[in-house]
Amino acid sequence: MKYQELGVVPIVSAQANSTPLGGCTLSEGVIAAMGNAARRHVDLDQFWRAAGDFLSKATGSDDACPVTGAAAGMAIAVAACVAGVDPLRVRKLPDPGDHPNEIVLQKGHSISYGGAAITQMIALGGGRAVEVGAVNSTSVSHVASALSPKTAALVYVTSRTHAIHRKGVSLEEMVARGRERSVPVIVDAAGESDLQRWLASGADLVIYSGPKMLGGPTSGFVCGRADLVAACRAQYDGIARPMKVGKENLLGLLQAVREYVAIPEEQRAAAQQVRMSKLAARLDQFPGLSARVVKDDTGRGIYRVLLDIDPELTGWSAAGLDRELRAGTPSIYLRDFKLHLGQLEVDPRALSADGEEVVVRRLKEVLTNAGAAR
Ligand SMILES: *Cc1c(COP(=O)(O)O)cnc(C)c1O
Repeated sequence: MKYQELGVVPIVSAQANSTPLGGCTLSEGVIAAMGNAARRHVDLDQFWRAAGDFLSKATGSDDACPVTGAAAGMAIAVAACVAGVDPLRVRKLPDPGDHPNEIVLQKGHSISYGGAAITQMIALGGGRAVEVGAVNSTSVSHVASALSPKTAALVYVTSRTHAIHRKGVSLEEMVARGRERSVPVIVDAAGESDLQRWLASGADLVIYSGPKMLGGPTSGFVCGRADLVAACRAQYDGIARPMKVGKENLLGLLQAVREYVAIPEEQRAAAQQVRMSKLAARLDQFPGLSARVVKDDTGRGIYRVLLDIDPELTGWSAAGLDRELRAGTPSIYLRDFKLHLGQLEVDPRALSADGEEVVVRRLKEVLTNAGAAR
């Protein structure tokens, strides 16, 4: 079956690996691994353990537990910290009984993914989110004074596009406060490229999303301390049961991680920089459009084309142009994180070579027609 048969419009994604657009474009190797998994049965328990071993080697952690995605990973990691491996407590969640269940996080880290709030994922795992500080400023004393015998875990969100880190408490400081109280620290590293850095900072559990940087299908994993990862697995007899990743997606995730770690980040970044420079040179020719290559401003090795749109020369605001591209056939989604600055971006990660040509053709068409209409 094809999307078109259902009247579903295929999208050219220059927005990167966005969950609402179906994650990332999978490599042929990942697609083949998913096909292999689909054709054979295995003992899922054995497969999960083996997957945990594979992912723990890739991340340098004690152990790892596969999940359906980073949002599920948060609910499961919290549940692990609230109920541990106790079967009765696991089955009672999200009711924590009278056990410690407060989950402390900085207000600037209280993000939502699409529409779903991280605090709701925490509640699903039986936790009660305790947000400390202000959105744009949180101090160590805010965190320290929120900790009590009722605290079950601390949560830290690495994302610099979603969470606010300016005048916030660093992960190292969160870990130090956690250690003082023997409370675990959970890190949401959903879209991060570094598979070892966050654990190396002393975090107890780290959550990754399969379709963000890693190039995997809908999936994810939680890695870290052996006892806590075992407690994550125990949740599959409880709240995690409806969040079970299938064998096809799990084998696809493992293949994606294998391919991801085989190429050093600098090499991937250098290839992207060359590709995006060529694209920028082409787009920069268009009237009223200034195009240049920029590195991801959160320090990850991603190069994009930044488009500055001159409303006077083109007749388009950035928002208007974005809407026009989305409404066309094929529909094109550019990265809109800088829309408020009158800028759009082309992100190479989910964009095929064919997709790149579609972007060039369509931008030329829209901008040239605008010029003609004036
Ligand atoms: C995307 C994202 C998530 C959700 O990841 P899924 O795998 O789609 O569930 C969670 N946290 C952060 C910081 C994200 O960027």
